Amino acid sequence: MNLFRRPAPSLDDLILDAPHEDLPSDALMPTVARPAQVFVRGQGSWLWDSEDRAYLDFSQGSAANSLGHSPQVLVKALADQTQALINPGNGLHNRPQLNLVDRLCHHTGSDQGYLLNSGAEACEAAIKLARKWGQQHRGGAYHIISASTGCHGRSFAAMAASTGAGGNRFEPQLPGFSHVPFNDLPALHAAVDAQTVAIMLEPIQGAAGVIPATEHYLKGVERLCRELGILLILDEVHTGIGRCGTLLVEQQYGVRADIITLGKGLGGGVPLAALLARGKACCFEVGELDGTHHGNALMAAAGEAVLKTVVEEGFLEQVRESGLYLGEGLARLAYRYDHGQLRGHGLMWGLTLSDDSADAVVKAALHEGLILNAPQPNCLRFTPALTVSKSNIDEMLLRLARAFSRVRTAQLQCRKGIAV
Ligand SMILES: *Cc1c(COP(=O)(O)O)cnc(C)c1O
Repeated sequence: MNLFRRPAPSLDDLILDAPHEDLPSDALMPTVARPAQVFVRGQGSWLWDSEDRAYLDFSQGSAANSLGHSPQVLVKALADQTQALINPGNGLHNRPQLNLVDRLCHHTGSDQGYLLNSGAEACEAAIKLARKWGQQHRGGAYHIISASTGCHGRSFAAMAASTGAGGNRFEPQLPGFSHVPFNDLPALHAAVDAQTVAIMLEPIQGAAGVIPATEHYLKGVERLCRELGILLILDEVHTGIGRCGTLLVEQQYGVRADIITLGKGLGGGVPLAALLARGKACCFEVGELDGTHHGNALMAAAGEAVLKTVVEEGFLEQVRESGLYLGEGLARLAYRYDHGQLRGHGLMWGLTLSDDSADAVVKAALHEGLILNAPQPNCLRFTPALTVSKSNIDEMLLRLARAFSRVRTAQLQCRKGIAV
């Protein structure tokens, strides 16, 4: 089936930043590099641009659209909630907020939860919660140790806990953070002291290129936290809500954090994040956390629809099955093109390339009608809809193969050019 109604643009078109459409773009702050296409429609694993060209989306807004584009359950939940009540304000209770927090606690074995707008904000709140706990139980200890290749968002505290996210860090950074190499238990042991209140980690580092913690490491971190009486914060903004084939990825590791952050997939494409706390970590009091749109009824209704779908019988099993199918396909392709290593859990996969051609592959893939992202110069990331079909995966592999070939050809021509 030819889904392209018009001839594909040339490679040069892909380098342009201005939108294809005759839309004003000067007013938009140029903080994110974007291709020229303007996207107007989405359904499931497909996106269409303003020229009616179809793209298979294996990024899904960096894993935010957990059920794909405009899934019926989400459209209905949002429509119904829009009719009933959009936003009574965070100072008043609303049903979706109460229901979603209750369901999240129930399904994750947490005692308290709170809804926010973004992953960074949830991580920020987790840091505040840990500091609050430190004031109460650790003589005012506030230091947080995180991984040197981690990423917890772009707000100041989240940025201070991260070192992975690139660009301007707008110094000075917030004090009270230190970083140790990921998957290095002795380094963590050496870094902990009386001022430490928590260890904050992504169980699988997304922005670093889908780098999983080893089971030995994460279990060791949990043990260390228990022995020293400090908190374990797991940032499951990327890995949570079924992305890795279980509701939380901590279940697969057999560890239990004191504080968990969720985001991305929780809203299914609308801005929604959550902070979850267990046992002794439930120590926020009135006045300590608030925000205009925290617990927004409309967003919470979206979260309810997503969570209900993900915990339905058979759903996560299907994610694991599709994940294996995707992993096998990627492994075959990586072998054929001499790429690798491949890492993944469920439907979150990272492929390290043999060189720093990830941006070129992403551009070539776009040209082939495939949307991917490159978290690192030598790494591709695949986070399709959790509802992705095997035929979507097969089609993606065909398009990715063409993108790899296109980049190889360009590299050879470039080398020949230099040789001449
Ligand atoms: C994306 C991400 C964040 C930040 O979430 P935003 O919604 O972009 O603020 C934090 N932590 C992890 C692990 C993420 O993947």
